[in-house]
Amino acid sequence: MITRTILYIEDDPSSRRLIERMLQHAGYRVILAERGLDGIDLARLERPDLILTDINLPDLSGYEIATMLRSDERLKNTPIVALTAQGNAAHDMAMAAGVTGFLTKPIDIEVLLKQVKYYLEGGQDEIDSDRLFSAQVQYTREVVARLEARIRELERVNQELLKLDHMKETFIQITAHELRTPLTLVFGYQRLLEDHLTIKTLMEADDSIKTLIRGMGEAITRMQNMIEEILIMSRIITKKIDLSLSPTNLGNVMEGAIEYFQDALKQRKIRIHFDKSIWPRQMQADAELMRIVMINLLSNAIKYTPDDGDIYTLVSVEGENVRFSILDTGIGINPDQHTRIFEQFHTVDDAKLHSTSKTMFMGGGLGLGLAMCKGIIEAHGGKIWVESLGRDVETCPGSQFVVVMPLIAHRSLPKLTEL
Ligand code: ADP
Repeated sequence: MITRTILYIEDDPSSRRLIERMLQHAGYRVILAERGLDGIDLARLERPDLILTDINLPDLSGYEIATMLRSDERLKNTPIVALTAQGNAAHDMAMAAGVTGFLTKPIDIEVLLKQVKYYLEGGQDEIDSDRLFSAQVQYTREVVARLEARIRELERVNQELLKLDHMKETFIQITAHELRTPLTLVFGYQRLLEDHLTIKTLMEADDSIKTLIRGMGEAITRMQNMIEEILIMSRIITKKIDLSLSPTNLGNVMEGAIEYFQDALKQRKIRIHFDKSIWPRQMQADAELMRIVMINLLSNAIKYTPDDGDIYTLVSVEGENVRFSILDTGIGINPDQHTRIFEQFHTVDDAKLHSTSKTMFMGGGLGLGLAMCKGIIEAHGGKIWVESLGRDVETCPGSQFVVVMPLIAHRSLPKLTEL
């Protein structure tokens, strides 16, 4: 004999257990859901032979579940039985919503099993057409009233979330600003210390003192960079990124960024291929923000390329756009990460996999670098993406970060919703 499957949707654990046991005892296979939405999902997935649903559930009502399932072609003939505690009006409404029949609570086990068999064999409760019509009108009214209440509630919650989001952004901005001031002072003191005659002599005499003082300076710079990243990111998110557009020589910007990494490149024996003569000399952009983009892309290319590797910078002008890319010979990026790495605070994993650590470069590691690049490029009306065959620390397939942006940036802000 074929085992029939019954989906039982009930939020009350003791009823759930009791009826499940009774049905199993009678030879049925029982699948359970605690909430209406889970019940609908299970019904679509498992296509049970009969659906038994409580009326009062925490999310959707049993009536609404019936209406939803009836609109599904594959379930439109499946018997749906409502468990109601109320009287005739509730029964009529259940019929109006599309149930096959109902059982009244408290459940009498014998009646339950008899009725289940009856509905499974094609049985159906009857209701006269006048009662059905007025029940349908009442049901529609109730559903619309519930919908209205839900929409109002959602709007209220949405307003609260927007307020909270605004508070969060303000908090981030104020904190970052407040941190910047004392940090600038500490940086100043560190420079004074480094230039102080006595300290200079000590540094020359003792390498460990030199390492300490220099290390302090590098750590402060790293912290300053992090604060700048957070501030720029916060401006991008709140759409307050104000482009300061001016004639920009992109080749100069790239050259400056490469210069910034001279020590790291030498230390890591990484060759960078850059021909300034082919880069456009005139474009309209925010040079300072473009420098941040170049620095971030180069910093990553260096970070993820093993020693003795190559980094290529490519550029071409295509109509009204410039297309440039940074191609490295590093560990590569898996295709499933190609979009995610541009999200805020997303990092793939530890960079310690190869010969150097992040701290040797710009520091960071907040997972903000690429999100920031994306925000800046999009604010210029451009696009950024990555191409890479995958991640392999042995074969190093490399990654290519490509930017296409207008030579004349528009001041209008793009949609930054997906940031
Ligand atoms: P962070 O600022 O922490 O470096 P990013 O947003 O710049 O974060 O990068 C996000 C993640 O993308 C990194 O954790 C890294 O896994 C991956 N990634 C970025 N650039 C490269 C690259 N050139 N090669 C391999 N992986 C990269």
